[in-house]
Amino acid sequence: MTSSDGNPVDRALAQVLARAANAYPGVVADYIPELASADPASAAIALTSTSGHLYAAGDHDVAFTLQSISKPFVYSLVLGQLGVDRLHEHVGFEPSGEPFNAISLDDAGRPANPMINAGAIVTSALVDGADEAERFESIRATLSAFAGRTLEMDERVYASEAATGERNRALAHLARAAGNLARHPDDAADGYFRQCALLVTTTDVSVMGATLANGGVNPVTGMEVVAPSVARRTLSLMASCGMYDHAGEWAYRVGMPAKSGVSGGIVAVKPGQFGIGVYSPGLDAAGNSSRGVAALTLLADEFGLHLLEHPATPATSVDRLIHDPVEGITVVLRGELAFTGVEHVAFEIARLLTDNDLAGSALTLDTSSVTRITPAAERLLDAVVAQARARGRSVTVVPLDR
Ligand code: GLU
Repeated sequence: MTSSDGNPVDRALAQVLARAANAYPGVVADYIPELASADPASAAIALTSTSGHLYAAGDHDVAFTLQSISKPFVYSLVLGQLGVDRLHEHVGFEPSGEPFNAISLDDAGRPANPMINAGAIVTSALVDGADEAERFESIRATLSAFAGRTLEMDERVYASEAATGERNRALAHLARAAGNLARHPDDAADGYFRQCALLVTTTDVSVMGATLANGGVNPVTGMEVVAPSVARRTLSLMASCGMYDHAGEWAYRVGMPAKSGVSGGIVAVKPGQFGIGVYSPGLDAAGNSSRGVAALTLLADEFGLHLLEHPATPATSVDRLIHDPVEGITVVLRGELAFTGVEHVAFEIARLLTDNDLAGSALTLDTSSVTRITPAAERLLDAVVAQARARGRSVTVVPLDR
C-alpha cells in the first residue's frame, strides 16, 4: 500500500520528479516497434524501504515492460542455481564500455558481463528447467517473488521484439558457434525476449530493488527470494556494469548499483536501506531514461546516497564500562557487532588489561544487548577473551540474547 500523499517522503519524491521534468526529455525507443507507443510525458518514481514502507510520486501505477531491468534478477536466479564458478565459465565480470547490444564475445564466446544483451542471453539460457516453457515459468516466478506479485507478460511487446530481434538472435547464434550456449540459439533468444516483456509498474521495480537492498528477502512479503551472497554479488555487477556505456560516469556521479531498460525504467539500490524505481520512456544517447537519470542524480546529490559517501561514524559498540571493586570490570556491548565494533572492544580491553590500577580484576563481557554479530566478529571476540585469559584474568561472557 502506498502511504498517504501528505507524507514528507512522498512529497520529497514528487519534488525530485518535478525538477527532473526540466531535463532533456530523450527519445522513446522504437527499434522494438511496440515500445514506440509509450507516452513520452509519463514519469514516475517509487521507493520501498527495507522495512517494507512504500512511497511514490507520478505515474507509479503505469505498466511498462522490464526489458533489461530483468537482467540482474535473472542473473541472481541462475547464480543461486549454479554458483559463481560454474556460471562465470560462461560470462564475465567486466564492464564492457559498449552499448547494450554490442557483439561482446571473447574467443570462447564469453560475453563481457551479464548486464549486456549477449551476456543476458547466455545467462538466461542457463536457467534450470526441462524445456523452454518450464524455464520461462521459473524466471517469471522468481521475478514475481522479487516484485511481491505475479507478473504478466505483455504479448504485444514480446511479439514485436520476436518479429524484429535479429540482432539478439545473431548474438545467440554467435555464442552458440563459439560453444557457449547449451540451447538452440533461437530458443535462447525467445526466452530472453519473454523475460524482457514482463510487465511491471514503477512501484514493482522499487520493491524488486528493495529485495536486493534487503539481502534477498522481499521486505513487503517477507519471502527470501535469493540468498544474501547472491544479492550482494548481483549488486556488485549492477554497480560496475548496470548502465551500459554510461556505467563509469554513473558510478562517479550517482554511485548506486542500478540497471536500466530501453522501455525507460531504472532500478537503483541503496544496500541495507531501500530500492528505487524510476520511469520515463525518453532515452538519452547511452540508452538510459533521460529524466530517470536526472531524478536519480538529484536524489543521490540531495540525500547523500553515493555508495562511497563518507558514512556516519559508527556508534561505539561499548555501551558502558563498569568498574566495581568486588565484581571487577564489566564491559557492556550493544548493537550490531561487525569488524569495527569488535575492533573498538579489543582496543578497550587491551587498554584495561594494561591499566595498573585494574591489575588482576576479573572481566565480564556482557553481550546480552548485542543485536547481531557476524561470524568473523565472533571469532575476533573469542580471541580477545582467550588473550585476557592467557594473561591470567578470570573472564565471564554473558551471551547474546538470541
Ligand atoms: N529487449 C531489449 C533488447 O534486447 C532490451 C534492451 C535493454 O533494455 O537494454 O534489445
